Amino acid sequence: LSLSMAPAVVDNLLDHLLPTQSLHAAVIGAGSAGLVAARELRREGHSVVVYERGNQVGGIWAYAPETESDPMGCDPARTVVHSSLYSSLRTNLPRELMGFSDYPFVAGPARSGDPRRFPGHSEVLAYLKGFAREFEIEEMVRFDTEVVKVSLLDGNGNGNGNGLIQWRVKSRKKTDGICSGDEDDEVFDAVVVCTGHHTEPQIAEIPGIDAWPGKQIHSHNYRTPEPFKDQVVVLIGNGQSSADISREIAPVAKEVHVSIRAPAEGIVLGQRPGFGNTWLHPMIECAREDGAIVFADGTCAYADVILHCTGYKYYIPFLETNGIVSVDDNRVGPLYKHIFPPLLAPWLSFVGLPQKVIPFPLFELQSNWIAGVLSGRFTLPSKKEMMEEVENFYAELEAAGVPKRLTHTMTKTQFEYYDWLAEQCGIPGLEEWKKQLFFAGIESLVARPDTYRDE
Ligand code: FAD
Repeated sequence: LSLSMAPAVVDNLLDHLLPTQSLHAAVIGAGSAGLVAARELRREGHSVVVYERGNQVGGIWAYAPETESDPMGCDPARTVVHSSLYSSLRTNLPRELMGFSDYPFVAGPARSGDPRRFPGHSEVLAYLKGFAREFEIEEMVRFDTEVVKVSLLDGNGNGNGNGLIQWRVKSRKKTDGICSGDEDDEVFDAVVVCTGHHTEPQIAEIPGIDAWPGKQIHSHNYRTPEPFKDQVVVLIGNGQSSADISREIAPVAKEVHVSIRAPAEGIVLGQRPGFGNTWLHPMIECAREDGAIVFADGTCAYADVILHCTGYKYYIPFLETNGIVSVDDNRVGPLYKHIFPPLLAPWLSFVGLPQKVIPFPLFELQSNWIAGVLSGRFTLPSKKEMMEEVENFYAELEAAGVPKRLTHTMTKTQFEYYDWLAEQCGIPGLEEWKKQLFFAGIESLVARPDTYRDE
């Protein structure tokens, strides 16, 4: 080790070389979160199995042209298509913010040939595949293998904090895309859930919708604008998907009406400047049998289609923890720092729950911390202290009027969280220039939503 290195860096490297305990860990999901979690766990000396129900790494970035049988994505019997990307999707973060710390997201011959700063989805998938190759992660992945149940091994994990916890992970294998019925059971010391949260649609409730004669679809099942040719379309939602999709269908649709919950500062309802056939409306009041969609300001549109761009639900159907962890109104909890359920820590953890963040670098930090806690290199507070911290956090959210469903939504608080995690791991936090680039990017997106990617 070089003598010119700062002592803290040397200590950290030594710690990496000398993990105190090596565990058998299951990572569920081989998207960006699962890939980096697997790498960090193995670097720390743990033995790792990654379960992936798809046939490649990349998670949501593995674009799927096909859509689900239920366009609303509600039917529990539907065949689930994991990815929610539309064909034209380009990143909403500049590529400089999407790289892992030691594997920058630069354009080059090993990528998809899209050098743009806000590239298309194929470039991100090529990057994640490159990352998996570089760190030999694929050898840990069981592809086409869906985890159907994660449960506490009999006799342990009763939540009283005594004794070692172990998990039984039950999985089902697919062959040629069809479930073979072959089930497998394996016992693990630790489970890290990395299954993403952009697949299970959240649907807007609309009074009168049952009698409304039109079609409905969730943006999860939107791919291209062609099906909306000459249609009157109502989009619900004020997020990035609604902005992208409304802009993309305007040239082919007859009319586009966008219904938003709360207009951002400077946004004026009514006809959108520069778009002859697009209007912004407040929330929908009701849908009528005659085909009308009535908005809260009394305006209305006779629509053919409603496109719900209303986001997604956290959904972890395979997890059985005797009620210790649950999903309630889009809060996965109780979780210490969005990662560890106090009563099952550190044997169960989650990577990737926070929203409105810079995802990849954050997943790396979360994973680094989990790996070090599992090896015993970092210590957690007592279960009681963690639980108190979680309760205080929830109380703070409530006092600030933040709805439960936004528990994992960060934006402004994300950098405090990054810095806190980095401190736990004894490594430098996110570079200052990246934080500045993030805020500059948001400003630019708000000010120039139609052109920010190419300026
Ligand atoms: P995912 O990528 O969803 O991966 C989860 C994996 O888990 C999947 O491979 C899935 O098959 C697997 N899985 C799920 N259940 C099981 C099971 N039971 N058994 C086995 N495997 C299972 N982020 C950015 O950084 N930049 C952007 O520009 C950006 N744009 C976005 C645009 C859209 C429309 C959406 C929806 C998201 C966008 N994001 C963006 C956020 C994106 O979700 C994250 O970047 C990130 O890729 C999430 O990674 P993940 O690994 O947590 O989840």
